[in-house]
Amino acid sequence: MIIHLKKNIDKTKLLEEASAHFGTLVQDEGKELLVLSGKYLNVPEPLIPFVEQFINTEGDFQLSSRRYKAEKRTIRLGSFELGGATNHCALIAGPCSVETEEQIEACAELCVSLNVKVLRAGAFKPRTSPYSFQGLGLEGLKMLGRMREKYGLLIITEVRDATHVHDVIEWSDIIQVGAKAMYDQGILRACAGARKPVLIKRGFGSTLQEFVQAAEFVLAGGNPNVMLCERGIRTFETKTRFTLDLCAVAWLKEHCNIPVILDPSHAMGYAYGVPDLARACLAMGVDGLMIEVHPNPSNALSDPTQQLNFEEFKKLIPSLYLLASALNIQLV
Ligand code: PEP
Ligand code: MN
Repeated sequence: MIIHLKKNIDKTKLLEEASAHFGTLVQDEGKELLVLSGKYLNVPEPLIPFVEQFINTEGDFQLSSRRYKAEKRTIRLGSFELGGATNHCALIAGPCSVETEEQIEACAELCVSLNVKVLRAGAFKPRTSPYSFQGLGLEGLKMLGRMREKYGLLIITEVRDATHVHDVIEWSDIIQVGAKAMYDQGILRACAGARKPVLIKRGFGSTLQEFVQAAEFVLAGGNPNVMLCERGIRTFETKTRFTLDLCAVAWLKEHCNIPVILDPSHAMGYAYGVPDLARACLAMGVDGLMIEVHPNPSNALSDPTQQLNFEEFKKLIPSLYLLASALNIQLV
């Protein structure tokens, strides 16, 4: 339940009464709200004097619900906006990991040449094995910072754990919370305290309810700039790395007011399937596509099988423009 509060109320008294119901006081788009869990269908008696208006949202997601805010939220990324009433779909591309200055610079140049404005690459990699490449850490963030300076690209890079979340917040334009970090509330709360856009990737074993609730942590903490990224879930199928859940995208578009990004690379796990999937994703009418690309994928230090090489990427982009124009989508 979301309660719009009356003006000039006694805040101390409100908080006293609200604490019995674990109410959270939130500022959203200039409005003062009290948010209660979805189990409340009616305003608890002691809170009635504070209420201007209330909305019963659906299940246990509130600020991200279309019942609260019917229009999709708008997020500014550098020179363009996503979501809201725009027909924009952002192209986000780059290698899985920053490996060397030459490698990331080659990717940055590729992006610029194809009018891709957001460069992705991980510096803190959440690997399944401790013996695999773990990323260049702070050095990698600094390399990404140099790409931003030199090429005017926006940088998205991921947080592995709460120990370096503030470094990532400082060096990125969009903070990526990876699939394995989706439940880390230290990270989510730190992102809530930042004002930068946050992209939360869906845990591969997470329900949509859990996925959206991760975004609620960021919204409830006062950061309205959240995006959700479907990147494949684990099913019984093992021939592909994960299973891209396009039904989830349809559900999110219907019920949720947060922009949605799709990542076909991690879902598929193999480069051969990524271009077709990327076009299918674009046809879903999403707010962005994130695609892994590497100058020499077979030598990549992480995710070697799924990254497109430059030739494949250069072939993919015009096909996305063709499809976008047929669908009245503007690639940004
Ligand atoms: C990535 O984007 O490189 C990554 C590790 O993704 P995910 O968190 O979805 O596995
Ligand atoms: Mn990757």
